[in-house]
Order: sequence, then structure tokens, then C-alpha cells
Amino acid sequence: MRFDIISVLPDLLTSPFAHSILQRAQKKGIAEIVVHNLRDYATNKQKSVDDYPYGGGSGMIMSIPPFAACIEKLKSERDYDEVIFMSPDGETLNQTIANQLSIKKNIIILCGHYKGIDQRIRDIFVTREISIGDYVLSGGELPAAVVVDAVVRLIPGVLNDETSALSDSFQGELLDAPNYTRPADWQGHRVPDVLLSGHEAKINDWRHEEALKRTQERRPDLLK
Ligand code: SAH
Repeated sequence: MRFDIISVLPDLLTSPFAHSILQRAQKKGIAEIVVHNLRDYATNKQKSVDDYPYGGGSGMIMSIPPFAACIEKLKSERDYDEVIFMSPDGETLNQTIANQLSIKKNIIILCGHYKGIDQRIRDIFVTREISIGDYVLSGGELPAAVVVDAVVRLIPGVLNDETSALSDSFQGELLDAPNYTRPADWQGHRVPDVLLSGHEAKINDWRHEEALKRTQERRPDLLK
């Protein structure tokens, strides 16, 4: 799977993909993440990527030509399944969307800045708009990193223990059960006995019960 992320601040996207699971996915050749500097596609002398809003008002708007040039170049090289714009007014990211995206092959992600991007970029090029929650960030880079992380960890072969993604919260209708590791007793705080019993069926039952309890308490909306 390949992601092409178009950004005016590509350095913001270096670290999130250079460690742990995302780094391993790239080293194994399962995921390719390419970040493009939007400024490289600016055609005017000042290399500007934004301009004043028509109709007046505060904030700068990212203009069409640099985005169009970058998207068109990418599309001339391969076919893309989605062109995603990160935007607070898009559909809110959830596990279902991450699952859907994880079976795609090539995805372009556009990161906005300032007041946003020219509406015509959205009308002409964008196939899907995704928000990471009801709050406004200063740029689309952190949201893009969130989407890529949520999606790449689902691709088979990325996680070492493949079943571990399946038992995560939101993968089914239940949240994850509480997790424990050594020591079994920390200053009198003991790990539940059943987890030390070695009895697999009992442990599975306990985990299911705990996951159910936690879901009822915290997210009853998930239990349809
Ligand atoms: N004026 C816009 C916000 C612009 S914030 C509005 O009110 O909707 C600048 C950029 O940051 C956006 O274009 C988008 O790419 C990104 N961004 C900010 N908050 C986001 C969020 N919650 N989810 C996804 N992208 C976001």
C-alpha cells in the first residue's frame, strides 16, 4: 500500500513514520509513505502556495495550482483509489473507515493549512474528506499521520501478532479488556488470579466479561 502525502510542512511528517510499527511496515515493503513538499509545485517567483480570500475576511487560503500540479503528476504515474483531504468538516475517522482504507492500494492525502484550501480543489480532486475529531488543529499533517497509522497497522503482516489488532477496541463491538504484565504483585496491587491460572477458556471468558463491563460503563452506544 502506498500513501502520497502532500504538505507545505513535510518535516512535520518525518518522525511519526520513522519508528516502531510504521517504520517496520516500510522496511518490510508492506507500506510506502512518500511526503511531497507542496512548495516544490509552486509556479510563481515567490513560491507561494496561498493567497488572500475572495470576498475578504481573515486568514489565507491555499491555492489550486500547486495542489493540482502535484496531484496530476502523481496520477500520471499510477492509479489512485482515493484522494483524501484532511478537514474538520469531513466524516469523523473511526475503525470502520480505517478498515475500509486498509484494503486500498494507493492513496493521496492533502494537508490543509491557514484558513483552509480553495473549495475547487475539494470539488475537482478530492474523493473523501476525513476529520480526526471535533476540534481544529493548525494543519493537516498530524491528522494525516493519525490516518496512516490507524490504517497501516491493519495491513496483514505489519503487526507481529496479527490477532492483536483484532482484539483491539472498536474492532468488534467491545472495548479492549484490561491488560496486565509482570510483576504479579506490585506493592499489594495484584493481577486478577484468573490471568495467572493458565486456564485458557476461563481467561477468555474473563476477558469477554471485563470487555463487556467496560463497554457498558464507558461506551454503551457501541452495544447495539
Ligand atoms: N477553516 C477551517 C479550519 C482550517 S485549519 C475550518 O473551520 O474548517 C487548517 C487545516 O488543518 C485544515 O485545512 C485541515 O487540513 C487541518 N485540520 C484542522 N483540524 C482538523 C481536524 N480536526 N481533522 C482533520 N484535519 C484538520
